[in-house]
Amino acid sequence: MEEYICYSCKKTHAVASLLWKCTCGGMLDLHKSSPTIDTIAWDKYPHSLWRYVQTMPFAEDSRTWESVTMGEGRTPLIALDTSEPDTYVKVDYMMPTLSFKDRGASVLMTKAKELGVTKVIADSSGNAGTAIAAYAARCSIACDVYVSDKTSPKKTAQIRAHGAAVKQIHGTREEIASAAQKAVETENVFYASHVYNPYFFEGTKTYAYEIYEEFGGAPDTLIVPVGNGTLLLGAYYGFKELRENGLIEKIPKIAAVQAANCAPLVSAGRRREKTAAPVANQGTAAEGIAIAAPARAEQILEAVADTNGTFIAVEEEDIPRAREALSRKGFYVEITSAVNYAGYLQYKKSPEEKVVFPLCGAGIKSG
Ligand SMILES: *Cc1c(COP(=O)(O)O)cnc(C)c1O
Ligand SMILES: [Zn+2]
Repeated sequence: MEEYICYSCKKTHAVASLLWKCTCGGMLDLHKSSPTIDTIAWDKYPHSLWRYVQTMPFAEDSRTWESVTMGEGRTPLIALDTSEPDTYVKVDYMMPTLSFKDRGASVLMTKAKELGVTKVIADSSGNAGTAIAAYAARCSIACDVYVSDKTSPKKTAQIRAHGAAVKQIHGTREEIASAAQKAVETENVFYASHVYNPYFFEGTKTYAYEIYEEFGGAPDTLIVPVGNGTLLLGAYYGFKELRENGLIEKIPKIAAVQAANCAPLVSAGRRREKTAAPVANQGTAAEGIAIAAPARAEQILEAVADTNGTFIAVEEEDIPRAREALSRKGFYVEITSAVNYAGYLQYKKSPEEKVVFPLCGAGIKSG
């Protein structure tokens, strides 16, 4: 029987389809001990992130994922350039909906299907909504996605194509989230939130498993973009499980990257503070990470500090330049993902330090 535990008050709750936060308002995590990792079993599974299903909190005999998967995961890990042989990009835009959000959405919607859910609501700056909409379609579950009226039309078209209803809201990212949460409460439906629902992180943690498998160990450093921290926390949890199983000695150092114009975590992180005060979004082309008040800020700061990590802020003018430079190397990413490369260019890498950064979203997703 799976349980949630509140990050703030430590109260535990049985996993239920309508529960998405603690009675105290705190964020829910899964209450579980580190899974036992059987690396030998991995090859019994298809070439996808489901080769790690035994590390996820599903019943041992659960096969629900088999009807949900679209082959997500196991994305290429490629040396960026012959001149930089220790720097790797993980091409996470090579996913069914063209962003890494498929890692979390496939696992979260598999759980929703097991719970017998018939409708979900999500809110997103775009890619999470797209991924949830696609996997909801795959599960024959109805889906409403709340997005900003400024979200790239390509992303809203992609959401609608999967049969989901797009609810465009004029307001900040936080106002959009609260509109979705209000609808979740009034309609009594499942909140398929990549931020609140901890099953999403059971999917994003496979980012770490895949890197481990590819390298036969851990790299020195992960450069990770952070808005709500779903990839950052997932990567951290994954490497933590690998360490707890004695498969690696050390969790890679995490260098967290934000756009300077919306960087609530950067100053707090640099001062080693435990929480981050919300900021006003000054406007950034990196729409996918423009989160002024991340709900899991404390957990993100704790994770980065635990790896002795660091924070990088990327200025607006460096974003299009980084996108162009990456394209010239063959990698066409959406604008938000150019921040990852710009962050890498600012990072002071030591000689032979092995660094990985993700290419999170495909170029055709943005203008
Ligand atoms: C979601 C997303 C991010 C950031 O992920 P968070 O979970 O918000 O930290 C970065 N890049 C792209 C392209 C995304 O879709
Ligand atoms: Zn609580």
